[in-house]
Amino acid sequence: MNLSPWIDQLKRTRKETRLSADTKVDVAVIGGGIAGLSTAYFTLKKTDKSVAIIEANLVAHGATGHNAGQVVSYFERPFSNIVAEFGLDLAAQAQDAIDSAWVDLETIIHDANLQTPLHRCTGYVGFSSRSQMIRYLEDAYWKKRAGIPIERSIFLAKDHAKWLEGVASDRADLVSLITHHEIQSLLETDDPQYVAAGFSPKGCMNSASFTEELAGYLLAQYPDRFAIYEYATANILELNGTGSVIHANGVEVRSKKTVLCTNGFEQITILNRGGADIDVNFHEQVHGTIGYMQAYLDPIDRSPTAISYFPADTKVSAQGEIYYYLTRRPHDKEKHIRHNIVCIGGPEERLPERITYNKNQAFPDEVKKEINAFVERTYEHAPASPIEPAYTWHGLMGYTANGIRLIGPEPCNPHLLYNLGCNGIGILPSIYGGKRISQFLSGKKVKPTIFDPKDYRCSIENKKTAR
Ligand SMILES: Cc1cc2nc3c(=O)[nH]c(=O)nc-3n(C[C@H](O)[C@H](O)[C@H](O)COP(=O)(O)OP(=O)(O)OC[C@H]3O[C@@H](n4cnc5c(N)ncnc54)[C@H](O)[C@@H]3O)c2cc1C
Repeated sequence: MNLSPWIDQLKRTRKETRLSADTKVDVAVIGGGIAGLSTAYFTLKKTDKSVAIIEANLVAHGATGHNAGQVVSYFERPFSNIVAEFGLDLAAQAQDAIDSAWVDLETIIHDANLQTPLHRCTGYVGFSSRSQMIRYLEDAYWKKRAGIPIERSIFLAKDHAKWLEGVASDRADLVSLITHHEIQSLLETDDPQYVAAGFSPKGCMNSASFTEELAGYLLAQYPDRFAIYEYATANILELNGTGSVIHANGVEVRSKKTVLCTNGFEQITILNRGGADIDVNFHEQVHGTIGYMQAYLDPIDRSPTAISYFPADTKVSAQGEIYYYLTRRPHDKEKHIRHNIVCIGGPEERLPERITYNKNQAFPDEVKKEINAFVERTYEHAPASPIEPAYTWHGLMGYTANGIRLIGPEPCNPHLLYNLGCNGIGILPSIYGGKRISQFLSGKKVKPTIFDPKDYRCSIENKKTAR
């Protein structure tokens, strides 16, 4: 069974429109998740171009409807690592860009009068080993150097103060010592292995409901310039010197620009008639990882929260240490009876190259056992054993080779642009990406960022002509 609470909670009244005849549009957006709708929102607001979304399934039913719903503005890749690769200025600018999406998210909600609640809270991350703490501290240090406000950045249990031995003072200064009990209470755990806790602004939101509401708003607001075609799979994207032709459902969509908001690189072949091969290059660079989650209902007597946990016996994947993440927020599953819903994720599995993700794949029993064992061991408000989740679901995350989202024109053909590759965290980056794509499309001069797609085979000149 793959049913997420976000899809279950969707109140969709909109009828879908099918793609049944050849059509023309200024900007075709492939993918109707939060990235696609954010791209459409900013493009419609900031330009006079017509936009059509081509969605293989239904709007918001991809990763947008199958995530943990934590709104966070950090990268899964360590910030210190991003500084090492791109330098402090570009890393700082990238962090600033993702942080700015908080304001954009609030602005969209206000502007479109969306009713999907965004619960903002202080989120915590719990550490059980010194190396995890040191890594977090290193990131905090570099964020401070980058001018990102962090104040005191991490709490450490006093009885583990020896972990600070040998730590440079400019890092150790970022640590506040508190009692072990206080750490456990911040992390809502009675598991003694957690002895350090970081914190940052977080939020919880049903991104599927946000996206579906946004779709309804844009259709109503821009009836002459905006269309959404659902159950329309783009199989072939043909790029030439003046635009592109998308082959979907046996018909053709001609566009001047096409923006891929497909999360990963699913079911689509790209033929670049105007330059070097893009297809192979990108299929090698973007891969899928399936993330598994489950949730249960709780009385509505605790405030929303978002907490991540790094246990000592954590497994290591290609993306680094696997951690568990928990969100709690209000939910109305049973006929308007308000509950909290507690969602837990962590286990993941890499999708083999060129294999299409099967959204109907059964939820594995061993994953259910693993998550239940984690909840029982960790969460102090865990339900009585045996835990029977109200929802189990999985979704696809797109990872890029360097762990950084791709936003911008394809260097080998600027008629194609990307806003994809969540690398585990995609809600705020999708919104930032949508805004930046609209800047490219409106011809605005933009500064280079770490998100710019790169291809050594194609000249920098191509990027300029994207504008
Ligand atoms: C288990 C899990 C937990 C997550 N937790 C968080 C979290 O807590 N916080 C966070 O910020 N992010 C999280 N994410 C990531 C986040 O959900 C995604 O980054 C975000 O929803 C991606 O939005 P998107 O629009 O890029 O992709 P999607 O929502 O997947 O949308 C892409 C759409 O493209 C369509 N598509 C693909 N190929 C084609 C084609 N050929 N033709 C037409 N349409 C096509 C798909 O049908 C899909 O609807 C999580 C993801 C998963 C799976």
